[in-house]
Amino acid sequence: MQPWASNYGGHQFGHWAGQLGDGRAISLGEVVDRVGRRWELQLKGAGPTPYSRNADGRAVLRSSIREFLCSEAMHHLGVPTTRALSLVATGEQVIRDMFYDGHPAAETGAIVCRVAPSFIRFGHFELPSSRGETDLLGRLIDFTIRRDFPELRGEGATVRADWFGEVCARTATMIAHWMRVGFVHGVMNTDNMSILGLTIDYGPYGWIDNFDPDWTPNTTDRQHRRYRFGQQPQVAHWNLACLAQALAPAFGSIEPLQAGLQRYVDAYTAADRANIAAKLGLVECRDEDITLMQDLYEWMAAAGIDMTIFFRSLSDTAAVMLTPESFSDAWYDLTRRPTQEASLRTWLDRYRVRLDSDPQSSEKRREAMRAANPRFVLRNWLAQQAIDRANEGDESEIHALLDVMRQPYDDQPGRERFAGRRPDWAMNRAGCSMLSCSS
Ligand code: AMP
Ligand code: MG
Repeated sequence: MQPWASNYGGHQFGHWAGQLGDGRAISLGEVVDRVGRRWELQLKGAGPTPYSRNADGRAVLRSSIREFLCSEAMHHLGVPTTRALSLVATGEQVIRDMFYDGHPAAETGAIVCRVAPSFIRFGHFELPSSRGETDLLGRLIDFTIRRDFPELRGEGATVRADWFGEVCARTATMIAHWMRVGFVHGVMNTDNMSILGLTIDYGPYGWIDNFDPDWTPNTTDRQHRRYRFGQQPQVAHWNLACLAQALAPAFGSIEPLQAGLQRYVDAYTAADRANIAAKLGLVECRDEDITLMQDLYEWMAAAGIDMTIFFRSLSDTAAVMLTPESFSDAWYDLTRRPTQEASLRTWLDRYRVRLDSDPQSSEKRREAMRAANPRFVLRNWLAQQAIDRANEGDESEIHALLDVMRQPYDDQPGRERFAGRRPDWAMNRAGCSMLSCSS
């Protein structure tokens, strides 16, 4: 093998951060599978690279378990993502100050082997552009198009314009999936944005339990909440604008870049409408359905309702049977129930009226809703339980979780404990509701 690490830059938390690079990612090579797809194999946490700067190039077991489990869970949820092939503990200790509060401690080191057709990020284009290396930038663009977007035909400026539009459309698709399943990436810096529109770099991510568009799992982001759940579509647009700016010297005209950014807006708007229709079980999303969904989200936030449980209960109950009792499992704060239940009743009445004008049979509706509203997601506290056990030498919970997450849309009798609300103990526990970038 001739392993390599690659060099890239990035905008972090809204500011240009200069050169970053694969500080702890080492690519081993590429394999072509039986159906001709090319996969790059990359070790994360295997030690220093030319771009490690002052850091150790290592990764700890807790964050490696989180990356391994979540990337697989996302794949099975149908969300574009890098995947994980293996997870090993290295037997070495790694020192981390988990909360950046002056308490460094030794932790178990680990390595995930992750897999994707390409690990090229927005930041790979930003770096040469920032250095005025326009020729290198152009070669990287053409290489990426040829290797990773072979379906794009044409030459020169035309194919470059098509390519940027495609990157924008794929990013929109990815973000719409995140919003559908309640995933919060936590560190949407441009160095963590894949040019293929894959979810990449699982760090202080989290999953929505009680619906709250302002929630961010990342303690480093607690003050400004730049990467909060509800802002992810806007942040992706901002990141694409950074990419467009970086690409401009290789484009000659900014018109195709502006067109690409507009394609993001259009693709996201369309995908959002498709999400609304699918989550509510409607054949199509009409303009008034956007308000219907918005009102539901506002109610869920005010009432403190579990997003996953709510939508799954909505999917599983026949329209005529829907009452507030259908959602008994979804409340986090029962003291809110007496005051909030009336609004739910009103919303359900509106929803039922809307369903009456939808041509779909109730079986078809149920089927479609169950395919859009997962029963199982990788709730933060589930991953943390697997981590706690693994730290005691018992890896069985990792396997149990992986198994459940392989069929996230199926009811899995006997595995209800993986579908429950966040327990009280997880409210303020490290790893469950608060995560730092230290990994
Ligand atoms: P992240 O916030 O994890 O996306 O990382 C941002 C940058 O820091 C990337 O260039 C990483 O490769 C680098 N980095 C993070 N942790 C380490 C580490 N332990 N050793 C070397 N580089 C690291
Ligand atoms: Mg990163």
